[in-house]
Amino acid sequence: MSPIRPMPRAGLMSIEAYVPGKSEVVGLRQTHKLSSNENPLGASSAALSAFLRAGRELSLYPNGSADPLRKAIADCYGLNQEQVVCGAGSDDLIRLLALAYLDPRDEAIITAHGFQIFKIAIHSAGGSPVVAEENNFTASIENILACVSNRTKMIFLANPNNPTGTCLPISEIERLIRAIPSHILLVLDAAYSEYVSEENYSDGLSLVSLHHNVVVTRTFSKVFGLASLRLGWAYAPLHVCDVLHRIRGPFNVNGPGMAAAIEALKDQEHLDKSITHNEKSKIWLSEELTNLGLCVTPSNTNFIMVHFPISETKGARAAEASLLSNGIIVRGLTPYNLPNALRISIGDHLANRALHECLRRFMTGH
Ligand SMILES: *Cc1c(COP(=O)(O)O)cnc(C)c1O
Repeated sequence: MSPIRPMPRAGLMSIEAYVPGKSEVVGLRQTHKLSSNENPLGASSAALSAFLRAGRELSLYPNGSADPLRKAIADCYGLNQEQVVCGAGSDDLIRLLALAYLDPRDEAIITAHGFQIFKIAIHSAGGSPVVAEENNFTASIENILACVSNRTKMIFLANPNNPTGTCLPISEIERLIRAIPSHILLVLDAAYSEYVSEENYSDGLSLVSLHHNVVVTRTFSKVFGLASLRLGWAYAPLHVCDVLHRIRGPFNVNGPGMAAAIEALKDQEHLDKSITHNEKSKIWLSEELTNLGLCVTPSNTNFIMVHFPISETKGARAAEASLLSNGIIVRGLTPYNLPNALRISIGDHLANRALHECLRRFMTGH
C-alpha cells in the first residue's frame, strides 16, 4: 500500500536534530553566552571592515569556487590551493564528505563523546555510525581500530574534540593511518587546532599530502570569531576535492564572508590576542573550579568540560539551572551521554568572573 504522504528516506526520522547552545534568557537583561565556543573578543576589526565594504555588492553572486579565499588560505598555511575546498562552515563539508563516501548501510566510526554533527551527517547519508569507546574522555586508537569491519568506509575524529576538549598527539593519528585499510577515509576535524598547547599535537595538514585517504577540516567559527558568516574549509587529496566540488552548492561561500575571512587570516595580532586571552582565562578558571571541588578535564580548546557530583541538588542539571537564572548560559551534555558534566566556553573577564562567583555560591551554599 502506498503511503498517504511523501515519506523521507529510511532512517532519516531517527536522526536527533542538532541542539545548538542556548543563546537567550527570557527576562534577563545582561546575559553571558558561554554555550557555543565563540571568540569572546569577537572578530578582527580588519575583517569587520572588509565585511562591511563587501556589503556594497550584495546583489552580485560571489566567486563560485571561493578562489580568493582558497588562495588566501593556501598562502597563509603554505598549502596547495587546488587541495583547499571551502564550505558554509565545516559542518557543510563534513556533511558533504559523508554523502560522498557512504553508501546506505556502510559504516562510519565515531568516538563515544565525539562531535554530534558526525552522527547526523552519517545518518543523513544513510550510513551507520559505529561508536568507539573512549579512555578517560579521550579518543582511543585501539578502540577505533577494533571497530573497523569490512563495511567501514569512514572514520570521523575531532582533534581536539568537542565537547571533551581532549586531543591526541600526531603520532597516534599516524598510527591510526598506518593501521587502517587505505580505502577508509579518515576525516580529521581540527576546528580548535589554534588553541592547542600540547606539544606533540599537529592539525594533520601535512598528512594530507602523504596519504590519499586523509582529509582535514578547519573553521573560521572559533578563534577567528566569524561563526555567523559560516565559513569552513577542507584540505584534501585532489581526488576527494574533485568529488566535493561536484556535489557542493555552487555558491556555498558568501561574498562578505569571504572578504572578512581573507582579512582575518592576515590579522595575526588579533589571533595572538585571542589565543593568549583564552589560555590565561582557561588556566585561571580551571584552577578556581577545581578549588571548588569540581573536576575539570584538561582542555586544549576554548572551553572546559566540568564534571559535577551525582546529586539532585549539587549536580550538573541543578548547576545549569542556577547559572541560567543568573544569566549565564552553558551547555548541558546529556545529548553527548555526559549527564553529569557541563561544557563551559571561555568568555571575557566579566563572564568568567560571573561564572566563577555563581558556581562558588552554588557549591558552597553561601
Ligand atoms: C564548532 C565546531 C566546528 C565548526 O563548525 P562550523 O560549521 O565551521 O561553524 C567543527 N567541528 C567541531 C568539533 C566544532 O566544535
